[in-house]
Amino acid sequence: MTATYGLMVLVALLGWAVGAATAIVAEAALARRRLVAPRCPYCTAVFHPLQWSAVLALISGQRRCRTCGKAFRTPRLLAEIFVAVCWTLLVARFGLTPRVVLAMAALVPQAMILVTDLEAKLVPNVIMLPSLATMLVLGSLFGPAAPFLDAPRWWQTLAGVAVGFAIFRVLVWVGVAAFGEGALGEGDITLSTYVGAVVGFPLVLEALILAFGFGGVGAFLVLLLRRGKLRTAIPYGPFIVLGCAVTLIWGGEILTWFLT
Ligand SMILES: [Zn+2]
Repeated sequence: MTATYGLMVLVALLGWAVGAATAIVAEAALARRRLVAPRCPYCTAVFHPLQWSAVLALISGQRRCRTCGKAFRTPRLLAEIFVAVCWTLLVARFGLTPRVVLAMAALVPQAMILVTDLEAKLVPNVIMLPSLATMLVLGSLFGPAAPFLDAPRWWQTLAGVAVGFAIFRVLVWVGVAAFGEGALGEGDITLSTYVGAVVGFPLVLEALILAFGFGGVGAFLVLLLRRGKLRTAIPYGPFIVLGCAVTLIWGGEILTWFLT
């Protein structure tokens, strides 16, 4: 434990607030709306302040829109919890260092993808391209964001980008050839390229292997719950996001455990 409990509580609260804002921005990006105030995605009525956070809305009994009566979409809740939990774990494990802050920031666009991919099966370029460019510049200057790296090098970011892009580029070709359009999309390529920029090479391999593992478990659970065929393709983005987050937090241990 490298952080005090006070600091962890503070980071958790900040992560919650940032996660809530992130989810709202992601829904606005999906609807191609300008972000003036948090709005209901169904009827665009302005939300009550208690509904700005999905967690707050849930515990205060304000889950439903006051105008159209529809409940908020669950991915918002996931994004909020995702940012709060990942940020707290990162700070608890590694303290509040510049590289930890970089890792925390790198998870924000990924929380947006949780919302957009689960709600609409979209990985919007309007979110991913600026994030990728920013991470490419920061990574080239300071090395990948994984906080447990002993001596991060600038080239690891570039190699991570190349590998992250190449793996999913090939997978999408194969997927489209085998199953037709819709199995994996162009957005998944952008996302895995971004993960390559965040964790660098060789950790990008670990992150993507974890993503395939989570994806397999996820597809199995969906099959089990629906008791039948996979009628619609499940979005793959959330599994890539999960693979990246787990690599940032426990990547060192997983690698040691795997190699010994
Ligand atoms: Zn509404």
